[in-house]
Amino acid sequence: MPTTVPSAYSAQEALDRLKEGNERFVAGLARFPTLQKEVLAELAKGQQPYATILGCSDSRVPPELVFDAGFGELFVIRVAGNVLGPSILGTLQYAAAHLKTPLFVVLGHEGCGAVKAAISAKFEGARHKSRIEVLLENILPALDGLDDNQPLDALVSKGVEANVRHTIRELMETPEVKANLPGSNIILVGAVYDLESGLVRFLE
Ligand SMILES: [Zn+2]
Repeated sequence: MPTTVPSAYSAQEALDRLKEGNERFVAGLARFPTLQKEVLAELAKGQQPYATILGCSDSRVPPELVFDAGFGELFVIRVAGNVLGPSILGTLQYAAAHLKTPLFVVLGHEGCGAVKAAISAKFEGARHKSRIEVLLENILPALDGLDDNQPLDALVSKGVEANVRHTIRELMETPEVKANLPGSNIILVGAVYDLESGLVRFLE
């Protein structure tokens, strides 16, 4: 992958674009039904995405559609439960060091199957297939402190947000982020997508 020039957008502008795009998506006013050949030709020269999104593989949460973003706008990583791992961290580092996207979003979603599986493992002792258990080990620490004495829907919802916050915290603890984020114009933010309304709620 060739090195490219960084995004023309500041982190705040990039965040505003995502928020506006999601508003258009929710309002049924998405701008990107098709792609022009000229746009493809221009994009073939190189990419200059303004945001990196770490989202879940869930088929109902495609970041480009959710944010009404076109080709070349978002650098997207999708893994069940939007968890970290060596390959994910490597991809994030590439986004930071080479693409220089000003904005990083960890995007969870309501009703996440990976979070549900982690909840069932933690509170009910459910067992899962071996590689899925390895995946869930990334989510389990996020669930510490959650009270399982509440309706499952509410528990999953809290677990989803806790998992996003956990991923953000883990990222903040990496030497690369510690060295580069403070004092920079980069924004790292968590968000939760609602399956029913299509709304993305950005976390404080
Ligand atoms: Zn999910």
